[in-house]
Amino acid sequence: MDNECQDKNNIYEGIQKCFGSLQVVETVRQSKILLVGVGGVGSEVLKNLAFSGFVNIHLVDLDTISVSNLNRQFLFRSEDVGKWKAIVAKERIEKLCPWSQVSASVDNIRSRKFPLEFFKQFVAVICALDNHKARLYVNEVCAFAQIPMFETGSTGYQGQVIPILAGSTECYSCEPKPQQQNEQIPVCTIRHRPETVEHCIVWAMYLFDVLFGNLEDSNPLSDEKDYKISYLASDSVSNSETKKTDLDEDWENMTCKRIFHKFFIEDLQSIQELKKDTFLSLSTLKIPSKEQLNNCLLNVQQKYSIEELKKEEQNPHQSVWTSEKACEVFIFCLKQLLRKWKESQSILMFDENDTISLAFVTAASTLRAEAFGIVPKNSFDVRGAAGRIIPALSTTNAVIGGVVVFQLLRFLSGSPVKDLYNARLSQVPRPRPRHQDEAIISPEVIRSPVEECIICHRLILVSCDATKVTVMQFIEDGLKGQLKLDPFSVATDSGFIIYEAEQDDQAISTASSSKIDTQTIAQLQLEEQPLSVLDDSGVNYRAWIKHQCDVALTTELIFRE
Ligand SMILES: [Zn+2]
Repeated sequence: MDNECQDKNNIYEGIQKCFGSLQVVETVRQSKILLVGVGGVGSEVLKNLAFSGFVNIHLVDLDTISVSNLNRQFLFRSEDVGKWKAIVAKERIEKLCPWSQVSASVDNIRSRKFPLEFFKQFVAVICALDNHKARLYVNEVCAFAQIPMFETGSTGYQGQVIPILAGSTECYSCEPKPQQQNEQIPVCTIRHRPETVEHCIVWAMYLFDVLFGNLEDSNPLSDEKDYKISYLASDSVSNSETKKTDLDEDWENMTCKRIFHKFFIEDLQSIQELKKDTFLSLSTLKIPSKEQLNNCLLNVQQKYSIEELKKEEQNPHQSVWTSEKACEVFIFCLKQLLRKWKESQSILMFDENDTISLAFVTAASTLRAEAFGIVPKNSFDVRGAAGRIIPALSTTNAVIGGVVVFQLLRFLSGSPVKDLYNARLSQVPRPRPRHQDEAIISPEVIRSPVEECIICHRLILVSCDATKVTVMQFIEDGLKGQLKLDPFSVATDSGFIIYEAEQDDQAISTASSSKIDTQTIAQLQLEEQPLSVLDDSGVNYRAWIKHQCDVALTTELIFRE
């Protein structure tokens, strides 16, 4: 206990010396911080927050721990695999730093369980997410709540920390982001519910490594190591006392069959089973049949050649493969790779410039995409996508986790958000403003909000008792009466049209038209989520209905100039 007090006192003494005031120590002690995401960057941030003396920290994370997390998400151990990240992180940190009081929610940050009031209890939000959609959401909700948000990101050797106070600094929505090729994809997305063809390509590359490569713990399929070719080969040797050694072709066919059956039939069948009793809302999977597999085993040798596949991969206009062709090419490539492995008896590395490797990944990703109803890519495009996938590095996460907590401390010591800097980490040193030297972490002046940004300029905050106010009152008294908007339409992000201005005398044809006259906002579940309001002159607004018991309807534009 004495040691613990000593540790804590040392921390506060350090902060006092660093910032030259006792006030900062008090602020740190009392500030509630929301950390969204406890993955690679989030684990670092949480540890730094606790060891900087923060007491009240709330975690929100939706994901479970997988083997591939363990090499860099140091709060988790192998016995934690399968458990919720938020819960394990909370327990570990409270043990390490007994002065901290961490609370945790296992949930999607976009859930309506987190109303605006929930966000308002925090002094700042640190966003350590791995996907664009959730970041946009947190950016938006922090703008509605007018809470500073510290956005973090890490990709390979690059990383950034961006302090944001929408309305006074550039926000996450200000500049459209380029296609996020390098976003870390959650493991469950790769394993059980791919949403895009890129997820299928990444899965296919991991599969290549499981079978032939250097199987690292960071591979989301690393628990399939029984399917490493070296194991399968030694397995067949030990079982083959009665077999002749010259049955190479049998061994090839048997191995192909085993691998195909496991990854394209058995695994998909168990996902299909899983979706029956979980939240996975998949339509029926298209799973190849055993007959299809048997046909392929017989036919492929005469049908394909490396030269032809090579010609094909150079043609950007080639059509995507049918599942029959993908099935055949997969078996063809698998046989080629098995031979190559047998000759070299060493691991094979995926190389997008090697025709067989590329065709293997194209075929596997096509079969996977087809199964999940996703449009596959041809081998020309797969090569482009495969070359851009960048690994997550623990050192980058550690640097970003350090910089963001230091930025937070600077903010709490009295620097307004707009006087902080964006921090960029790059592999190549960049010149520092006002210095003669170069650094790998360089400060970048925070810019003002972009003129066209809806989040920074056109937010409508509505407060009312959602259980009493009808949707029509919100439209008529709020948007038309108080804000003088007319004509306009209102919709949720899921595409539900709440209201459309009447066109001439035609009655509104939306299913909601009769409901909105009589039903309350709460009955239609429209409160505590962002809504789109589009007026007929083409100006977009975002609106948020904040529920407060017994409060009269008020509507305001947040950033009124
Ligand atoms: Zn903005």
